[in-house]
Amino acid sequence: MYFSKKTMEPLQEEPTLVWMCSDEGCLCWMRNNFSFEETPTCPICHSAMVKNTRMLPVLSNNTSM
Ligand SMILES: [Zn+2]
Repeated sequence: MYFSKKTMEPLQEEPTLVWMCSDEGCLCWMRNNFSFEETPTCPICHSAMVKNTRMLPVLSNNTSM
């Protein structure tokens, strides 16, 4: 953890759609980089993955646009 002395907005989090593994014993999850029309399988245990939301930091850098 670090804090800048410059005036920066605090890191914001927002509910983000993610895929989570349906296996209770598996903690694998991934951001929704896949189309929701297709259900990905867990790369670790190959279970089906289910839609869920997580509070994730907003990706707010301007480098990609
Ligand atoms: Zn899994």
